[in-house]
Parts: sequence; C-alpha cells; structure tokens
Amino acid sequence: MMDSISLKEMKIYGYTGCLPEEKENGQFFFVTVDMYFGDIPGRITDDLNDTVNYAEVYGIVEDIVSNGKFNLIEHMAYEVGRAVIAYSSLIDSVKVKVRKPDAPVDGEFESMETVISVKRKEAVIGFGGNMGDSEKIIEEALEALRADPAIEILRLSSLYETEPVGYDDQADFLNGCALIRTYLEPLELLHVLQKIELDFHRVRTIKNGPRTIDLDLLLIQGVRMNTEELTVPHPRMYERAFVLVPLKEIGMYNGEIPGGKEVKLYRKQGML
Ligand code: AMP
Repeated sequence: MMDSISLKEMKIYGYTGCLPEEKENGQFFFVTVDMYFGDIPGRITDDLNDTVNYAEVYGIVEDIVSNGKFNLIEHMAYEVGRAVIAYSSLIDSVKVKVRKPDAPVDGEFESMETVISVKRKEAVIGFGGNMGDSEKIIEEALEALRADPAIEILRLSSLYETEPVGYDDQADFLNGCALIRTYLEPLELLHVLQKIELDFHRVRTIKNGPRTIDLDLLLIQGVRMNTEELTVPHPRMYERAFVLVPLKEIGMYNGEIPGGKEVKLYRKQGML
C-alpha cells in the first residue's frame, strides 16, 4: 500500500476540445488528482513542509485547465500530471481523471472521462570520457544532471579506468554509471544528456574516438524501445565490460562480465 493524497472533482472552466466552439465558448471540467507517495514524511512530523500543500496543487491544476486550449482531455490530464509530479519529489506517481459532462455527443450520457498516469521511474546513465581532465568533467556533468529538477541521482558507481574499445590509438577512459529517478519521458531524458554532452563541447571526429564526455541511456525501468533516435536497453551495453562492471557495483546487473578489455577501479569511494 502507498500513502496518497487526492483532490477530487475540482470544477474548473476551460477551453479544451477538438471543436472550434469548445475552444471558443468553453465548458466545465471536473478534475480529480490522486497523488501517490512512498511514505509521506508529514504523517510522522506533522509538518506541512513534509507533505504536499493541496492548496498549491489546486492552483497548479486550475492554471493548466483554465488557460490551456488543448484538443484532447487526455493531453490536458497529462499536462496536469506532469506539473503536479514536478511540484514535489515526494510524489512517486500521479493519476489524473478529467471528466467532461458537456462533451459534444448527440445523445444521453452521464459523462465523458479519461484517466492518465504519470510516474517517476528509475533509469541508469553510463558515462565516460578520455579528453582533458576526465574526472573533473565527469563530476561537472553529474552536477549538471543533479541541477535538473526533474532528475535525482540515487546511486553512483566508482570511476573505472578502462582501455579504449573499437579505436585503440587513444588515451584510456574513465567510466562509471549512475542510477537516477525521473518523471521525464525517455526521449526527453536523452535530450537532457545530449545537451550536457554539447555543453562540454564533446568533439566527435573518429567513430569510437576520443571524447570529453559521453552520456548513454543504459536502462529505464519497464521500458524496451527501439527507434531511430533511441534504443533502450542500450544496444551494446552487454558486450562492454566498462559498462557492466560499474553497473554491477550499483546492483543493476548480476550476470557475467565479458573478458577482453581491462577495467581497473580508479577510485574506491563512490562519488555521492
Ligand atoms: P554515441 O555517439 O555513441 O553516444 O551515440 C549517440 C547516438 O546514438 C545518438 O544519435 C542517439 O540518438 C543514439 N542512441 C540510440 N540509443 C541510445 C541510448 N540508449 N543512449 C544514448 N544514445 C543513443
């Protein structure tokens, strides 16, 4: 069982709908938000700072429903769920129900409604580099990741010194991985990583060649996908000792480590 807090049947006038007159004239929406937690710390401390302030949640929902002009209530519910989950990292998941009793349907009916869920998931990021002061660059990249309010770092591996794979005529790498928790969609998370790579002026001239920082999305809880832009689990991770050794250290892999390239522990201490 999880702790939960709900705001039920918030009655808000809005302009979402596919028909032009819905966007023009508007109608009432009834929104129920169920927020689920691990434990709400406030149940012990009796302190408002240790829970979510439902009056503020009401304001967040009202703002989106009354100002948004979406086509679909599914999307409106998703936007509400995202804004509510972003409001507090105490919230593990949010279920948003939107009812539209005056939906444009010819005939008798009670209501038209949708239920959309938004969840925080665990994911694993692999990182590595071999140009410049790699340890410093990795620490700064992790700092950038931590600064993103949508991302929490839960666990970090040690750094490992590893021999290059694919193109040998380059310096050894430093590699590691991080277990994170985020409500971002897989592609959004990839784009956050790519922006950090760009910010560190990652230069790619040779395939598998030197790089200041490489951030890979290795695993996402419950996600298997293979699109042009993103494949999860990362397609090459199970062949690479420099990925699997740190992954094993943080408890996210318990299989065999393929031999071949050397992986040395660079620093015993975890980086958290
Ligand atoms: P790389 O230069 O090896 O980091 O590869 C980057 C390219 O791989 C980008 O174009 C990404 O869109 C694509 N890609 C596919 N799956 C992943 C993944 N799981 N993590 C990072 N990049 C990925």
